[in-house]
Amino acid sequence: MNATSCIELSEQSLNANYAFVRKLLGKKGIRISSVVKGNAYGHGIEIFVPMAEACGINHFSVFSDDEAYRVYHSGNGKSDIMIMGEIASNAFDWVIDKEISFFCFSKGRLLMALNEAIKVGKPARIHLEAETGLNRTGFNFSEMKEVISLIKENSEHFEVVGLCSHLAGAEGIANYLRIKKQRQRFKAFDKMLKEAGFKNYCRHLACSAALVRYPDTRYDMVRLGIMQYGFWPSPEIFIEYCGNRPMKKSPLERIISWKTRVMNVKDVKTGEYIGYGTSYIAHQDMKIAVIPVGYSHGFFRSLSNKGRLLVKGERVPVVGTVNMNGTTIDVSGIDGVKPGDEVVIIGHQGEQEITVASFGEFSNFLNYELLTRLPEHIPRMVVPD
Ligand SMILES: *Cc1c(COP(=O)(O)O)cnc(C)c1O
Repeated sequence: MNATSCIELSEQSLNANYAFVRKLLGKKGIRISSVVKGNAYGHGIEIFVPMAEACGINHFSVFSDDEAYRVYHSGNGKSDIMIMGEIASNAFDWVIDKEISFFCFSKGRLLMALNEAIKVGKPARIHLEAETGLNRTGFNFSEMKEVISLIKENSEHFEVVGLCSHLAGAEGIANYLRIKKQRQRFKAFDKMLKEAGFKNYCRHLACSAALVRYPDTRYDMVRLGIMQYGFWPSPEIFIEYCGNRPMKKSPLERIISWKTRVMNVKDVKTGEYIGYGTSYIAHQDMKIAVIPVGYSHGFFRSLSNKGRLLVKGERVPVVGTVNMNGTTIDVSGIDGVKPGDEVVIIGHQGEQEITVASFGEFSNFLNYELLTRLPEHIPRMVVPD
């Protein structure tokens, strides 16, 4: 059976994005952890992980144990997996047994890990999460002191593999002072762990925006999310990166494309309404095409009368409301459009391109949300270029 649309991922563009980040990081041996939460930002964990491994990535960050499970079963078995968020209480034994590391941000989780580590007979590999100012998860200074003694008393059951924290909006210039405080606090936590005698733990603080804007946050590893998929975390970060460089062209390449095909073509006379209700009236004789992709496939209803797609290398508007399984586009004046013709929802066709941002709200900020809402059921395939 064929799906009504298909997502393609470009191997060459992914390679280019990693090459760009590696060049930024320089020769200091800073590790890249590929962040694949949210179904690899909508790209699909099962297809993305092997692609990233082929590009030399051997560390993956996920949000929860179910995502860790999917990475574990789609990778080559040699990569490290790190859980940054939720672990169900009945999943700790699996996580510890598979030597998957995880963030520790509460005493409850630490005790749970201890219990399970004893049962499994292997140490729990933990990253101590410091509260530096995001105020979501993490130990503050006094809690960290307690935690350190608890770990020392049970040292055979814990392996402190990391010290981490997360920044509260490194992509926005307005957050500069808050981020500065966080960077200072993180240093103090690092000192605390060193003084407590911990060695060889991996310090990681930076997300995409921070690794560009604040080189001092790169430490031993960066958690690379949105940029590996070819998007800037915000327009500000791109502008700042361009700053004093002569080339104003983005070195990042979108790796995702989303394509469907024409299902039907028909003529509509002046004065007729198109689709449900009265949201669109033909002001002249028109030719319209229907594509078999609607809001159930992740093409937002809010794109009714707004979205743009590519047919025969031309940019065409959505007319009328987006339906559950179909969307109507205006192909008046484009010669020879027929059922089966390729329609690009995201990506290139001829000289034209629809980026994720322009498919959505005309704002880079929402790339994160738009991508992660691409349904898992759309088939994905790797393409070389
Ligand atoms: C999502 C996430 C990242 C990656 O953020 P990007 O801006 O996509 O690079 C890094 N760290 C944590 C804790 C995250 O949740």
